[in-house]
Amino acid sequence: MELSLNTATVRKQWNLAQIIDGCARHQIRGISPWRDQVAALGLSKTVSLLKQHDLTVTGLCRGGFFTAKDWRDDNLRAIEEAHELGAQCLVLVVGGLLPGSKDLILSRERVKDGIASILPEARKAGVPLAIEPLHPMQAAERACINTLEQALDICDQLGEGIGVACDVYHVWWDPKLEQQIRRAGKKRLLAYHICDWLVPTRDLISDRGMMGDGVIDLPLIRSWIEGAGYAGFQEVEIFSELDWWKRDPDEVLTTCKQRLRHC
Ligand code: ZN
Repeated sequence: MELSLNTATVRKQWNLAQIIDGCARHQIRGISPWRDQVAALGLSKTVSLLKQHDLTVTGLCRGGFFTAKDWRDDNLRAIEEAHELGAQCLVLVVGGLLPGSKDLILSRERVKDGIASILPEARKAGVPLAIEPLHPMQAAERACINTLEQALDICDQLGEGIGVACDVYHVWWDPKLEQQIRRAGKKRLLAYHICDWLVPTRDLISDRGMMGDGVIDLPLIRSWIEGAGYAGFQEVEIFSELDWWKRDPDEVLTTCKQRLRHC
């Protein structure tokens, strides 16, 4: 599988134009940008730079937050941007608990209703929606969908045009991981995000490890992903306040490429 760079990996060192240039110099053929970076560079400028370097956009980060106010307009804009960028999917970080609520079940219902309501627009635009389950430690604040099984249950109910983004950082611990990857299959595995889980983890959001530096059995999970028929990119997504965001970004990209051979 080829490497895609999630632009969060070097976001502290480089702006999006520099990241696109870095991908070109390091012969990285895939990229997954964040919307704030696209907005800063300008959508049409981003489109032309991506085209110029013939980069595959493996995803746009992100839509979602269906439990927040004003979620609808923002998601419709995100779909439009993903369409313009030719993104293979729009990644959904679905949102946590409803404001002031302790009702996880209701929050999850709202998320499902929200996705259902934007799905027709996404289908029209030809933008597959990828639900990214997040580690349960983020259930309150960022995503009340925490396993592939929960995400696939929603996919089953909503039909065409929707699938999952499988991020090892969030799902590596799940006893049903292999089974649910198989259940997702080629059609609903829309993205595969990699990094590593460090021991100890010093910050639960922004201390992700470089592949090979932690405890996730990446070759094993990759074998499940490939076994299910996924033939897309492996997208490196590392939030690392304490380490990789402090390093020379060219070193970060070189290391990603080297480590990819063993994961
Ligand atoms: Zn991810």
